[in-house]
Amino acid sequence: MRLVDDCHPVADEIDFAIRSTVFRAARIGLTGPPGAGKSSLIACVLENISAIDKRAGILAIDPTSPFTGGALLGDRVRLKGPTSDNVFFRSLASRGAYGGISASIWQSARLLDWWGADVILIETVGSGQLGTSVGDVADIVVAVLTPETGDGIQSMKAGIMELADCFIVNKSDRSGSELLFRELNHVKKEAESVGRRVEVFSTSAVESSGIDEAFDGARSLWLNLYDSGEITRRRKSQIEKEIAFRLEAGMREMVIRSVGGMETYSKAISGWVEKIFAGDATSAIAANELGADLF
Ligand code: GDP
Repeated sequence: MRLVDDCHPVADEIDFAIRSTVFRAARIGLTGPPGAGKSSLIACVLENISAIDKRAGILAIDPTSPFTGGALLGDRVRLKGPTSDNVFFRSLASRGAYGGISASIWQSARLLDWWGADVILIETVGSGQLGTSVGDVADIVVAVLTPETGDGIQSMKAGIMELADCFIVNKSDRSGSELLFRELNHVKKEAESVGRRVEVFSTSAVESSGIDEAFDGARSLWLNLYDSGEITRRRKSQIEKEIAFRLEAGMREMVIRSVGGMETYSKAISGWVEKIFAGDATSAIAANELGADLF
């Protein structure tokens, strides 16, 4: 897993060796703003999974700060893994590469499939658009919200249905959670009227309430979507996304190599930024010139 996360050349060989065990586990993406309680909920769910003798893999994608290169959220609840032999936990650095998703995330998920995970939980920090890309690797997306995010619901109401398959209103021990729960149930009804299934749950990680219902609900939604063929469709689209991602990353690498390496590339980019900022060039010109040897 470490070699995969470091993008070591052997990662692709490992990937080839395990290619026939892909897509065994249900992949559940967990997204939501920092502090919503994602890690706390996962800790509760893990007890549940270990108790029923299932294997769970957890990939937590840490948002890497573009300024310090370190993890952004110093004070969040950290999962102390592994809690049992049936649980594999790994924290991946997102490196800001792809809207909160690390390049190695697809490969890491496949490794967990090979290891025999029944369920893979992929945790990303996301608010709004950033979180949506967890759907590029997860079969279903669960958004964790709290009463504090309530106001945000109004402004994103139109797009919220597309954001997730399941909504968890966490911190139900706090005031305001009933209102958010009701609002999301309206969203659920609207979604159903256009033939889309959305589930809404209410939990409190500190009081350990509602967790089993939410986990079982997400699992039954997954099964339902699997039976309808929707999970297969989504998985094929994930493969498409991964290929596109690799192509884009590969193209950028070719450009960097063709101009003589990262240092020259960074300098050239800075030069173009100044020119464009001053109104003397456009981004299209910059991209064409930088890729002149390739395009
Ligand atoms: P994450 O950033 O989404 O992973 O959130 P964490 O799991 O780290 O939780 C952030 C903070 O919220 C911690 O201090 C938790 O103890 C607290 N928290 C998590 N779930 C609940 C809950 O259901 N109720 C209350 N009151 N606090 C919670």
